[in-house]
Amino acid sequence: KDLSGNQYQLFSPEIESRTFEQIQLENDLFKALQRNDEFELYYQPKFDVRTEKLIGMESLIRWNHPQLGTLPPGHFIPLAEETGLITNLGEWVIRAACQQMNKWVSSGYTDLTVSANLSPQQFNQQNLVLTVADILEETGLPAKHLELELTENLIIHNTNHTLKTIGRLKELGVQISIDDFGTGYSSLGYLKDFPVDTLKIDKSFINDVTTNRNNAAITKTIITLADSLQLNVIAEGVERADQAAFLAEHGCHWIQGFYYSHPLQAETFEDHFLKSFIK
Ligand code: C2E
Ligand code: CA
Ligand code: CA
Ligand code: CA
Repeated sequence: KDLSGNQYQLFSPEIESRTFEQIQLENDLFKALQRNDEFELYYQPKFDVRTEKLIGMESLIRWNHPQLGTLPPGHFIPLAEETGLITNLGEWVIRAACQQMNKWVSSGYTDLTVSANLSPQQFNQQNLVLTVADILEETGLPAKHLELELTENLIIHNTNHTLKTIGRLKELGVQISIDDFGTGYSSLGYLKDFPVDTLKIDKSFINDVTTNRNNAAITKTIITLADSLQLNVIAEGVERADQAAFLAEHGCHWIQGFYYSHPLQAETFEDHFLKSFIK
């Protein structure tokens, strides 16, 4: 079965129009979550633009489906969200990222931060902070090595709960990044109220940043905004040298994208970016 088609259509919210394939995949997801040996985190490096040093890595989930092969998150995260399975899956992600990072920290790579993506449903669940605290304790990872990436849309809705939850995560020592920044069409006023650490400029702006004046202006504005609020700023989706040069010229702090590396399996990441670069 070819699943590389239109994922949005495939997982439309109209339950009654579910196809046999969707129900099948949901069953598979349910089973996979009980076995827990089909999911895998890939890691994509993040670099400091000025020093060109590795600063950390984003974890990105893949599902090694026994029949369908390696599935990217777009093929099953929406389904997991729709069915509520995201709670278990999201917990698996945080645990796996913390376990891996703790191994790396224990091996002497002590200046790095791993990030995990949080879906809105996961963020809004009551016991998220306790879950994160438990996982940190259980894995032994010092909280400062963990960053959670939240999307801007999540942050601007339900502000009261969000404010409290982010505050409690910060108290644990976890770092918070706003993913896909600039796509939320929100007033920027909320930024001063939320104790976040990092803005991640969405790749839709970075894509044609050197040829599209509007996207160049937005990118420069986000960098300036981050500087004046004393936040870190990272650009994602950097695929070419001209984009990297633009970002360096305009003082973007950190950078991530295919130009440097695709997301890699842990062992490959270690060989390419840890063993050779740091030690
Ligand atoms: P995202 O958080 O915005 O992650 C960035 C996506 O862009 C990743 O796709 C990454 O592989 C891809 N990417 C990185 N560099 C480049 C580049 O230079 N050019 C282009 N065109 N793409 C680049 P991926 O791994 O397929 O993930 C897609 C989305 O799925 C993520 O978007 C995130 O929203 C979600 N996701 C991934 N892993 C998890 C997870 O563990 N939990 C949850 N809740 N969501 C996840
Ligand atoms: Ca992300
Ligand atoms: Ca993003
Ligand atoms: Ca995105």
